[in-house]
Amino acid sequence: RLHNLVQELKGNIRVFCRVRPLLAWEKERQKGLEHLHFPLQDNKALVLSKVEEVSPGTGAQLGDVKYDFSFDRVFSPACSQEQVFEEIALLVQSALDGYHVCIFAYGQTGSGKTYTMEGPDDMSPETMGMIPRAVQQVFQEARELEPKGWQYRFTANFLEIYNESLRDLLVGRPERGAELEIKRVSQSSEELHVPNLRYVPVDSEDEVLKLLRTAKANRSVAKTALNDRSSRSHSLFQLRIEGWNRSRDLHSVSVLSLVDLAGSERLDKSFSKGERLRETQAINTSLSTLGLVIMALSNKEPHIPYRNSKLTYLLQNSLGGNSKMLMFVNISPLEENLSESLNSLRFASKVN
Ligand code: ADP
Ligand code: MG
Repeated sequence: RLHNLVQELKGNIRVFCRVRPLLAWEKERQKGLEHLHFPLQDNKALVLSKVEEVSPGTGAQLGDVKYDFSFDRVFSPACSQEQVFEEIALLVQSALDGYHVCIFAYGQTGSGKTYTMEGPDDMSPETMGMIPRAVQQVFQEARELEPKGWQYRFTANFLEIYNESLRDLLVGRPERGAELEIKRVSQSSEELHVPNLRYVPVDSEDEVLKLLRTAKANRSVAKTALNDRSSRSHSLFQLRIEGWNRSRDLHSVSVLSLVDLAGSERLDKSFSKGERLRETQAINTSLSTLGLVIMALSNKEPHIPYRNSKLTYLLQNSLGGNSKMLMFVNISPLEENLSESLNSLRFASKVN
């Protein structure tokens, strides 16, 4: 397919930047935000410009500070979920052709990662996010490939990684003693799995949508109980796709992974004690390991540090080799978030 050819020429990682709109309550206190602009140039470059404040006595120059970043796509605040999905639909579809596909959402808390990946809580068809859209696309395409002799078997799982420990989001209350660990499927296999995790055989998009709702409910329980631990954990949805074409003697296994990463913001140092310190270290390690893994892959380095975090270890087989990666860098339009936005953009430019 043309799309696959284009990707091979470009390398396996693409980065899309999405700036979320101002929310209603943010508009009300918009004072001070008018200096931040996101002019879009040919849908690829993102320019942040900011009029620096003059602080009295320092003699600082009043002028424009410009930051210029380029990505494969830049979505302005006005872009709908549908418009964003249009740009990833072919990538998602290549999972049925046997490619591992990994899609990440990176950015600070409040920048729109969950909105992009899952959509808002109502899960309406207009605003639903990339995960339900991807699932629909895959099942629809699978039905279209059926007359050509293709048969598929799908399995879904959904987990959370918090402080480097795994939790099944498809199970209401985790059973005590059921520690989740990453293991090889068998001694002779490179495939990894998590014994005790629920891998649910699914036959239709509706079944998966039900699982997504279960995961959302399980996640929000933890949210109240643990002071929004969801912003400090990664959530990973996976759809394993096994396909056969008996008439042509073909068999393929691939995994479509969609990851809502932990908030990338640097946490306040005053909180960095005990539990919070461990959290901060866990997030920093896993996000920087992800960056290092992607960079090592694109530089074709001999050693890829997958093992340095649970997330990259779990995704080891889906990153690199026969796989396609896409990273969303989600950006808040608020001026007060400028320095975090710049951090996110720098991270994203490094892996691009
Ligand atoms: P994150 O997961 O990065 O912490 P959220 O996805 O929760 O951020 O987004 C923060 C807020 O902004 C939520 O209220 C969400 O509904 C809203 N939001 C994010 N992106 C959009 C968008 N593209 N359009 C409308 N609202 C959005
Ligand atoms: Mg979120």
